[in-house]
Amino acid sequence: MKQENGFILKGIGGFYYVRTDSGVIECKARGKFRKSSQKPVIGDRVMIEVQDDGTGYIMSIEPRKNRLIRPAVSNIDQLVIVCSAAPPVTETLLIDKVTAIAEHKGMDVLIVINKCDINRGDHLYDIYTQAGFQVFRVSAQTGEGVGALREQLTGKISAFAGNSGVGKSSLLNAIDEKFQMETGSISPKTERGRHTTRHVELVELETGGFIADTPGFSAFDAERMDLILKDDLQYAFREFEPYLNQCRFTGCAHVKEKGCAIRQAVEEGKIAKERHESYCQLYESVRNLKEWELK
Ligand code: GDP
Ligand code: ZN
Repeated sequence: MKQENGFILKGIGGFYYVRTDSGVIECKARGKFRKSSQKPVIGDRVMIEVQDDGTGYIMSIEPRKNRLIRPAVSNIDQLVIVCSAAPPVTETLLIDKVTAIAEHKGMDVLIVINKCDINRGDHLYDIYTQAGFQVFRVSAQTGEGVGALREQLTGKISAFAGNSGVGKSSLLNAIDEKFQMETGSISPKTERGRHTTRHVELVELETGGFIADTPGFSAFDAERMDLILKDDLQYAFREFEPYLNQCRFTGCAHVKEKGCAIRQAVEEGKIAKERHESYCQLYESVRNLKEWELK
């Protein structure tokens, strides 16, 4: 019996597949980890004990760097937000919900503007570079920019989010041939052909790095916005930071207040008005909460 460290790539029917230096090992969870509250999730870094027959037991789970509830994945390094300026055009509010969650949970963000062969998305490009994000322009169709994006995925665990129709599946297929995602609008015929009960899995890229293969990611964790307290929302907009202590009144909500430094920065073009608008809308949606549970 020997011990090894690794992390969980997928879980099926009580078995976990743990990636270690000596390959992928099929494991079961020991004792306390079978309780639903303590169940291992995809992405968990674990210590396992390998039996003589080559299978293993999960003995301990390292503290998680972060965790998404739906889909259940932990230790994500970066969220890749796929958007598009070609139909269906992505609303900035949708992007900003996801950037806020990512910042709140300590994940990096890459903004990827797909369908550049149709529309280069200058508007989106300007908003998100100004806000301090890395922005990539790509086309899953022509392959433009895919190589540069692939480089950013190397050696990291990434999860992809994006509104339906934006080309997320096409892009994954272009990134690595391990992905065999169905693309295009869902006709009744392909709907039947789809695996409706697919679970999350970390797919290892040819070039190193892992992607959470999450077919139902479109709505993403957006409803989880309710887990951010209204007083914390301001910190989930990274470009607000230099101005936060400069408002006239302490406890300024940065929505309509007089003497608000954030609003002033918007006036002066230092913060994109779309980002501030998203902030205001999200502030409304989280403002009634008194308490929060969050990990
Ligand atoms: P998903 O719903 O985000 O997974 O989107 P799909 O990958 O299924 O793509 C939706 C539609 O957009 C399909 O008809 C694709 O062929 C098309 N599409 C995807 N990427 C591109 C692109 O870069 N350029 C163009 N012109 N069409 C694309
Ligand atoms: Zn303010």
